[in-house]
Amino acid sequence: MKITIAFFSLIFVSSSGVAQDVRVGVFGLFHPDRLVVSARTGSAVVVHVAEESLVLEESSGVNIADIRVSGDNVVLRVGTRIFHNPRITVTSRNNGPADFNLAIAGRITRHYRGTLEVKPYARALTAVVTMDLETAVASVVAAESASDTPAEAVKALAVAARSYFAAGKGRHHDFDFCDTTHCQFLRAPPANNSSAAQAVDATRGLVIAYQSQPFAAMYTRSCSGRTLTPDELSLPPAAYPYYSVDCKYCREHPSQWQSRLSSEDAVALRGSNESSRLSLDRRLGWSAVPSNTFVVRREGEQTILRGVGRGHGMGLCQAGAKAMAEEGATYREILAHYYANTDVIPLGGVPPPRRLTERSRSRQFDGLSVPLKK
Ligand SMILES: [Zn+2]
Ligand SMILES: [Zn+2]
Repeated sequence: MKITIAFFSLIFVSSSGVAQDVRVGVFGLFHPDRLVVSARTGSAVVVHVAEESLVLEESSGVNIADIRVSGDNVVLRVGTRIFHNPRITVTSRNNGPADFNLAIAGRITRHYRGTLEVKPYARALTAVVTMDLETAVASVVAAESASDTPAEAVKALAVAARSYFAAGKGRHHDFDFCDTTHCQFLRAPPANNSSAAQAVDATRGLVIAYQSQPFAAMYTRSCSGRTLTPDELSLPPAAYPYYSVDCKYCREHPSQWQSRLSSEDAVALRGSNESSRLSLDRRLGWSAVPSNTFVVRREGEQTILRGVGRGHGMGLCQAGAKAMAEEGATYREILAHYYANTDVIPLGGVPPPRRLTERSRSRQFDGLSVPLKK
């Protein structure tokens, strides 16, 4: 019996007991050659460059780090001081995650929570925020959920988003995920009392697993009345088979769209092919071809597409999940419907922290967790 308890707490420490970090490349869509970092009201951040550490704080009068690209270096200006270095990082005073604002002057300012690294890449700046997994999940759920989405549908999305982060790494070279729908749309972390933060908290550490393995769960804004399989979209088989499941809401309330393409662009779109749709949307804008379910009609030099649904059409349908929740379904029922033959499990396959016994809680701080932290 003793052996069983020791074994169990050891597994716990190596999984849920250790915070997972996610490295998110942000603002890549803008290819910025200049970024501005600032501390948020009431807090300080530290900019590290070479051997120097520079504090940004509103009350000190020095609150702006201006970062530009110059060849293989970044040029950092803080107050009257200027530095040239291959990279800079931004942390809290104790080298941990900080709350800071990152801006592209005149275009966008966004709040992030994590540590920031900025370096040049292809004559632009690459900004990577390393954030705690749960912060990343909350920042996606907040970006993806409309304010009228019922709690159980938000929770279902939280579990899917967490699964994607936990199992979907490797889509980018310099970081794990980008902040666009190529990976997952991510904005600022939500306020603690928001529905997004509460849904993330209520499902903390939970992921979707197929044959006991978490997988990068895909989700789509709405579908065509049934979800699509990778094969139908000319995608390679995924770790999870993605069955086509019925979606009552979209079947009864299809989200319709119409779009005009030039003949050349229409040729580039090879039917219901997710890769060609994405490359076309990247070039023409994200509403050029909103989904993979459409019919084509020629009109002179132009091609008219009439379609239904938003997004690739695979996995959880957000419109259908919302309707299921409004009819009383729980997040587990929603996930079981859209991801058939899966289980909701704690990341690492062991219970989340709130179920810990006092004995295993004390084991968490006996030093075992330290080497596993990074
Ligand atoms: Zn991406
Ligand atoms: Zn649907």
